[in-house]
Formats: sequence, structure tokens, C-alpha cells
Amino acid sequence: ITPKSAYRRILLKLSGEALMGEEGFGIDPKVLDRMAQEIKELVELGVQVGVVIGGGNLFRGEGLAQAGMNRVVGDHMGMLATVMNGLAMRDALHRVFVNARLMSAIPLNGVCDDYNWAEAISLLKSGRVVIFAAGTGNPFFTTDSAACLRGIEIEADAVLKGTKVDGVYSDDPVKNPDAKLMTSLSYQEVLEKELKVMDLAAFTLARDHSLPIRVFNMNKPGALKRVVMGEQEGTLIDH
Ligand code: UDP
Repeated sequence: ITPKSAYRRILLKLSGEALMGEEGFGIDPKVLDRMAQEIKELVELGVQVGVVIGGGNLFRGEGLAQAGMNRVVGDHMGMLATVMNGLAMRDALHRVFVNARLMSAIPLNGVCDDYNWAEAISLLKSGRVVIFAAGTGNPFFTTDSAACLRGIEIEADAVLKGTKVDGVYSDDPVKNPDAKLMTSLSYQEVLEKELKVMDLAAFTLARDHSLPIRVFNMNKPGALKRVVMGEQEGTLIDH
């Protein structure tokens, strides 16, 4: 008997920084390939996988605005950066024989598909990985908001947020050596204690639609699979 996964359909959020590896900018091909391999393992378990990919390894609108650029234009660049990461991820998945589609919230004729809700659901049902790029398609939002939005739209069982740290801590672990890794939290606790999970717009969207969020370390090999198998890994926010 093959062990059963805890989830039927997930929305995996990968930050741009997670793709960067040890480099300060861009995409580390080794990291990209490892992530593609980890996604492949989920597909082989029969889990339906939607992916929202960030762009912080290339451009962030906020940073560009601080350097003097118009914020809206900066956010356009940030969203296009997520498309570049999406193209790299789709390519990496194809190279390990995983059927994947890339849908962008900003139409890019000839480069990738346009975001289409009904088509995304039907692709997921047929075992295709669907990568959602260009965030929400609007400036002043983040890809965490896009992850919660798409997660709710596709009726994912959870948003799995892959980060560089093991999960949500009771305090900043860099400043406070006594900071503890929290295994489970309520939406309310996160808000009351002002714990850093994701930006408020994204977080309240998840809370209002009872979409569970799992924060885990994407740099830890095997952690994603452990999460999907329902093993203790990272932090779960869900009630
Ligand atoms: N962005 C945006 N609207 C969205 C999602 C993203 O304008 O709906 C822009 C924004 O400038 C953001 C950048 O794209 O800084 C990259 O996304 P994000 O910072 O969320 O990437 P991550 O931190 O996950 O790598």
C-alpha cells in the first residue's frame, strides 16, 4: 500500500529568494532542479500541485521605488520577474518529465498562458502542475497575496509557504536566543502577537476564507514531502 498524503490539492508558495540559493541575485540551477524534483515526488503521490512563485530574487517594486522609480512601474517589473522564475520552474519540471503549465496574471502572448480559473482546475484534476505567475496582476500586492488568492480560488487544502527558516518563531530568532519555533497557531494568535507569517492583506484573506497556512523550510531537503505526508514540520496556522 502506498502511504496516503494528507492533502488532495495544495498551493505551494515559493519565494524568489528560495530560488536564489547562496547567490545574492538570480536563480541557482541546483536549487531549481532540487525543487522540481521535490514537486515531482508530490505529483507521484497523486497530490494536485498549484505553485505561486515570487520574484524577490530579481526585482521588488518596493526596493525599486526606494531607489527612485515609480512604484507602479517597479511593481510591474516585480511581477514580470515572477514570470521569469515561472519560466525557469516550468522548464525544470519539464526536464524531469513533469507535465506543467505556466499561467500569468499579465497576458504575455507566446510566452505562457493567461490565467484562467476553470482551465487551471481542469489541469490540476488531470495531474498537471500549474504555476501561477505575475502575482495578482496588480501593483501594491505581494505574491503571498497571490498565493492565498489562488489557493482559495482553486480550493486548495492549504497554502504551503516555503521559506528559508523552519517556521514561525515566538520572537525574532536572530535577536532573541530564547525564541521558540511554534508548531501550531490560530489566526488570532498570529495577529495578536504580531508574528511574521505574511503581509496582512494576504493573511487576512486566508483567515477570512479559513485557508490553512503551513510555513516550512524549503531549503531543508524532504521537508515539503514531510508536510504533505502530514508529518510534523514547520508551523501550521489553521483555526
Ligand atoms: N508584485 C505585485 N503584485 C502582486 C505580486 C507581486 O506588484 O500581486 C510585485 C511586487 O513588486 C513584489 C514583486 O512583484 O515585490 C515580487 O513579488 P514578492 O516580493 O512577493 O516575491 P517574493 O518575496 O515571494 O520573492
